[in-house]
Amino acid sequence: MTAAAARNNDTLTRHVVYPFANANFLAENPPICIEGGDGVYVSDGQGSRYLDGQAGLWNVNVGHGRPEIKQAIIEQLDRLSFYSTFGNTTNSPSVALADELCRLAAPEGMVRAFFSSGGSEANEAAIKLAKQYWRLAGEPLRTKIISLRGAYHGVTLGALSAGGVNVYKEQFTPLLPGFFQVETPHVYRNPFTSDPEALGRLCAELLEREIVYQGAGSVAAFMAEPVQGAGGVIVPPANFWPLLREVCDRHGVLLIADEVVTGFGRSGSMFGSRAWGVNPDIMVFAKGINSGYIPLGATLINAKVAAAFQSDDKSQFTPRAFMHGNTYAGHPLACAAAIANLRIVEQEELPANAGKVGAYLLARLKDIQKRHPNMGDVRGKGLMLGIEMVADPETKRPFDLAENFGQRIWERCVAKGVLIRNLADTFIISPPLTFTTEHADKIADTFDEAISAVE
Ligand code: PLP
Repeated sequence: MTAAAARNNDTLTRHVVYPFANANFLAENPPICIEGGDGVYVSDGQGSRYLDGQAGLWNVNVGHGRPEIKQAIIEQLDRLSFYSTFGNTTNSPSVALADELCRLAAPEGMVRAFFSSGGSEANEAAIKLAKQYWRLAGEPLRTKIISLRGAYHGVTLGALSAGGVNVYKEQFTPLLPGFFQVETPHVYRNPFTSDPEALGRLCAELLEREIVYQGAGSVAAFMAEPVQGAGGVIVPPANFWPLLREVCDRHGVLLIADEVVTGFGRSGSMFGSRAWGVNPDIMVFAKGINSGYIPLGATLINAKVAAAFQSDDKSQFTPRAFMHGNTYAGHPLACAAAIANLRIVEQEELPANAGKVGAYLLARLKDIQKRHPNMGDVRGKGLMLGIEMVADPETKRPFDLAENFGQRIWERCVAKGVLIRNLADTFIISPPLTFTTEHADKIADTFDEAISAVE
């Protein structure tokens, strides 16, 4: 029996279908059942406490158990647990949150927010907003969506069709027509150049070639994450996003920034787009919007996009109504939690802290890399970091998956009280933004020990 199996009993795997997980593997290696959370720590109810190096799933940005958020949820629950926002009614937390989001993203030019229940739904809304925008703007042939290889935009069929990681897609083909992916500027793994600036230029050119090839008049939008997350924390060269904006502008294509992970501080700026100095047309949020206390997604649009949905027609269901919506859009408890959460993000200056502690942790990991040749690449921006393990550092050959190399390092980290996430042999570190350099040291030292033991 593995260490994990000893900690848990098999009831955890009897009836649950777990996302993205092999049931046979889980029967041997049951998940750790997290029962408690306090700040940057979580516990499993069996006496083990862990430093949360993954912030739940990149989302518990202000940390666990924040009394301010709990209080906001309770106060809202005392007033009203739910009411629909489908237009003939609404609720005040969703209205207040829309104001708040547009204030925070005013420098990016955002003027309206559409709510949903998570990142996939928020991206689905972004895709539909872009498509309907072009119908309303009198260019109904602009329907195609271009995105990046390696992108993760979620699991609903539109978001999945825009995704660029084949293992998530191949079981569900054929996916939606009209979605195309172009090369992502992956500095560590690309066949073109080791010069980041040249790579950023080249990948922007490849996007432009694709737009021209498809016919600019058929392309609705280009969507991308400011830093690719689930694709393995791929930080693009600094020139890439400004060039993307130029390419989109040259061809009238809308730019959608999927800020589900990068939104609200994780990459060291309030937004990932802001870190690159770029104003998108549509911004997509979830996760850090309320640190996961209650599911919530939001899709923001700028004045240009919003204007297309304005009508002189005063009837309730005009063709200019955005024809989309989920029951839980603007859920009052989720929005109340978000308002309290965003106050913490601003008051505690968490984007700046993520930048500072993230840079410290990146430097520590790069130092550790010098002693461990299997640490092929260490990369990151703010508190989103990736460590790609390779069997051969010269050729960058990955480990044979059957070796479970990443899993063995992960188990060592868990035994030492550190939770980080491994996607096969790439480790992702995305802790709460309240992390200190001492917490970063604990992660770095533990990873160092774990890899020494497994090597
Ligand atoms: N977009 C990005 C960049 C993500 O990382 C994720 C989830 O990890 C999603 C969208 C999908 O969000 P959700 O899982 O809330 O549907």
